[in-house]
Amino acid sequence: MSTPLDFSYETRPARVVFRPGASVSATPGEAARLGLHRVLVVCGSRGEATARAVADALGDACAGLHAEARMHVPVEVADRAVEVARELRADGCVAVGGGSAIGLGKAIALRTGLPLIAVPSTYSGSEMTPVWGLTEQGAKRTGRDLAVQPRSVVYDPELTLALPVPLSVTSGINAVAHAAEALYAPDASPLVSLMAEEGVRAMTAALPQVAAAPGDLDARSRALYGAWLCGACLGATTMGLHHKLCHVLGGTFGLPHAETHTVVLPYVLAYNASAAPQAITALSRALNTDDVPRALRELAGSLGAPRTLAELGLKEPDLPVAAALTAKESYPNPREVTANGVLGLLTAAYEGWEPRRDAA
Ligand code: NAD
Repeated sequence: MSTPLDFSYETRPARVVFRPGASVSATPGEAARLGLHRVLVVCGSRGEATARAVADALGDACAGLHAEARMHVPVEVADRAVEVARELRADGCVAVGGGSAIGLGKAIALRTGLPLIAVPSTYSGSEMTPVWGLTEQGAKRTGRDLAVQPRSVVYDPELTLALPVPLSVTSGINAVAHAAEALYAPDASPLVSLMAEEGVRAMTAALPQVAAAPGDLDARSRALYGAWLCGACLGATTMGLHHKLCHVLGGTFGLPHAETHTVVLPYVLAYNASAAPQAITALSRALNTDDVPRALRELAGSLGAPRTLAELGLKEPDLPVAAALTAKESYPNPREVTANGVLGLLTAAYEGWEPRRDAA
């Protein structure tokens, strides 16, 4: 190694239980471990049947089920959920579902201080982070607060068997994006980098198997294992250009979350490659390739994921606006972020060109 090691690393108290069937078999025990007797179970409308099974397993320890989670946690949805938690005198919250349901659980934890148990059903990784988000009048605010970090996370790969293949693929690449940016984060550290590399390896190996046989529990387990590791990387580090750009595209232009991450990631990695050689080396090992941006784009595209921002609904006049918005915010990134640089990257992602190093 050419430079001496220099890092800080902090572990946070979070418990993880991982096994098929755990949503029903382990959640009651996790609630009991935290001393909870009246939890509110929250989920989205599409996840209600699964959440109902968790609520039934909790039995008397469940105070109610609230199936009102919506994408990006609108503030009025959060207000209502907090009211319900207070009316029911809940002493904790169990969020069952994807990033949207977990986001609602976090909003309740943020306002009330109630402990949160997460039972994720996608690969978004929100369950491993202290990051909350709330949307008010079209603008999404995010922040970090340890009070919202789930105290216990129950990973049940059986819950992901029904995750449609297109969403499995894009949600999986969303997870890969967390690990990729953790590798060049200013607060990267050796253990997190190991988790990142292993997370990318596990997820990218599992996705083709998931796409070929969505009901294969072994492939689903390995994808969810990858999602756990990638989510832990997201929670432990500060994200850069990729996450900021996707935040702008989602928040200002309404582009869908996981799909946007999937289209943009190869182009951001091509943009950052020359300034983050160690990250690219780790990703090359994980993906077994000497061209990381191209391999990622090929992987997602071959599994049916969208390849262009145009397909996701972005319009050509939006490109300079998005570039300017992304360049004017401040966040850490290995390569300097300029409006022109982002415009080049965005144009390539809009048209679906082959991602090329220094294309910007
Ligand atoms: P989501 O939770 O909105 O789920 C997407 C869709 O998939 C929904 O319609 C949902 O009902 C459905 N779904 C979820 N699990 C399913 C399953 N197992 N089977 C069938 N259908 C299922 O989307 P997401 O990608 O999981 O999360 C995106 C949201 O999470 C965004 O708002 C994003 O900002 C947030 N997020 C936050 C963090 C954080 O650290 N705070 C991290 C990642 C994502």
